[in-house]
Amino acid sequence: MADTNGAHITTTCRLCEAPARFWFTKNKHDLYRCTSCRLVFVHPIPKQTGNLYEQSYFCGGQHGFGYVNYHQDKKTDEAFGRYLDTIKKYHPRTGRLLDIGAATGAFVGQANSRGWQAAGVEVSNYAASFAREQGLDVKTGMLEQQKFPQKSFDAATLWDVIEHVPDPRATLGEVRRIVRDGGVIALNFPDAGSTYARLAGKRWQLIVPPEHLTLFNRRNMSALLQLSGFTPLAYTRIGKRFAPAYVFQVLYAATRKEVFRRLADRLAKSRLNNLKIPINLRDNLFIVARAV
Ligand SMILES: [Zn+2]
Repeated sequence: MADTNGAHITTTCRLCEAPARFWFTKNKHDLYRCTSCRLVFVHPIPKQTGNLYEQSYFCGGQHGFGYVNYHQDKKTDEAFGRYLDTIKKYHPRTGRLLDIGAATGAFVGQANSRGWQAAGVEVSNYAASFAREQGLDVKTGMLEQQKFPQKSFDAATLWDVIEHVPDPRATLGEVRRIVRDGGVIALNFPDAGSTYARLAGKRWQLIVPPEHLTLFNRRNMSALLQLSGFTPLAYTRIGKRFAPAYVFQVLYAATRKEVFRRLADRLAKSRLNNLKIPINLRDNLFIVARAV
């Protein structure tokens, strides 16, 4: 917490243990930035973050974050196809794949159709139930609660997940435990070191506590992967396509201008929302790494 005199308070970086300075407060949560590795993180970590991801996160968005309607907004099929192509380069043989933070199971379904035996875990019971209704193997809960056998997967994927978890180091440690030696991990995350993020500063739209708790850059994520027993193999930036209502909802969250909220509401009910708007601010990084 920032003290009442406005003096900068420091804490310890959760990744490299160097001093981290108070940066600013957003949505009533304090953000700190490491003076050494530049990790940006919420401190203290709010309790029970899992509650954020019930039905309203996937179909409401009334808090100014989350998705208006996850199935419709996130036109991710194309991006998922490219993620699978990239994984294939480094792991040509298919096998058992675990998607962590599987949401409503879109990636699990697509991986299955490409010959993987894919399963998922998802904290939102609403989303996981939806996936199971589609016949997909998606379990409700945190990864750590599943107690998967050691080295039981050939690949693990985390799409837009690592920035949400309360303890990224523990999560990647558990991923390493369940992935066999020589297997791969693939993940993407908001890149706090990207040109766009650095220009936007405090106004970067991906600084959204308590939804996003840790913001990495290429260097500190590579360090965390190595610390967890993974060797990074490839880095890329893959743009995504979003429905118009989602784009206006993000603009509303950033600017609080009513006109954007009204447009988002109207578009959500319109057929125009089936359009896909390609967005690549190059502030999202994709990494494949090998379990060593
Ligand atoms: Zn650090």
